[in-house]
Amino acid sequence: MFADLHTHTHFSDGTFSPEELAARAKAAGLSAIALTDHDTVEGCGRMTAACAKEELEFIPGAELTAELRGHEVHILGYWLDASSPLLQSRLAGFQAVRTNRIHDMVHRLNQRGIPLTAESVLALANCNAPGRPHLARALVEGGHCKDFDDAFERFLKKGRPAWVPKAKMDASTAINLIHGVGGVAVLAHPALYRADRLIPDAVAAGLDGIECWHTKHNPETSAHYARMASDLSLVATGGSDCHGMSKGQPLIGRVKLPYSQVELLKQRRPAAASAPAPVTSPELASLTVPGSVPVG
Ligand code: AMP
Ligand code: ZN
Ligand code: FE
Ligand code: FE
Repeated sequence: MFADLHTHTHFSDGTFSPEELAARAKAAGLSAIALTDHDTVEGCGRMTAACAKEELEFIPGAELTAELRGHEVHILGYWLDASSPLLQSRLAGFQAVRTNRIHDMVHRLNQRGIPLTAESVLALANCNAPGRPHLARALVEGGHCKDFDDAFERFLKKGRPAWVPKAKMDASTAINLIHGVGGVAVLAHPALYRADRLIPDAVAAGLDGIECWHTKHNPETSAHYARMASDLSLVATGGSDCHGMSKGQPLIGRVKLPYSQVELLKQRRPAAASAPAPVTSPELASLTVPGSVPVG
């Protein structure tokens, strides 16, 4: 049995509907899937129904944009109570930040002679968590950039002309929020931050796991983080970070996490409070993950 604990739908910057994602997860041979859209749990209702239809176990989640000593990090929350007013109000605040940022970034593009409107980008995004990938799509569809990577390289990457920083919650706040609504907190794709020295701070804040297997991790980095997870008594997790068709081919099925890791993660749920779980599993040794595919 295998799981994918990192996926996106069109409720953030993926292209698949919950129904399409669930069907593809089933076809990829998965038994369990988490939905982790950026800063929103709005897709979780439909995903619950879609996974029930496909006879898949569904883990409601989100990928929270956070900050660890000035570095942007993504914190995955699992078994979130999507109906929690506290969670919804906190996420609504960050969704407003995202929408305002689209206006700011479009303004910067307009100053450089690119005639996009924020309204058209927000219409294309058609969700409450708009972000740079939607702007990239608008730039490509408008004929201003040749592809997604071109849009990031020329305009959207940190330090490029249309880049605008985003207000983020502190990682410890994100972890507390996740725990406060019954969830567990996992550091997403740590190899992308190149900042291992910051991880102990997140552990001190109550981090439950580290995403060791990810489509942007190579076998060496995966093994490095699996060792780190074991040393820190954290659960070693993994996911594809599938965004549908938005960045080339769908990545669902490219990371197949042994289900035993989901069981270890479940033991970390606040309601099931018990001693930190051991992190080793014989299946992990044979787990391979393909290398560099553009994901985030
Ligand atoms: P945002 O949350 O609006 O800052 O957008 C961040 C998302 O943009 C990430 O989750 C990635 O999916 C994507 N992204 C970030 N940097 C790049 C890049 N250089 N090339 C392609 N996609 C990127
Ligand atoms: Zn994304
Ligand atoms: Fe992601
Ligand atoms: Fe991410």
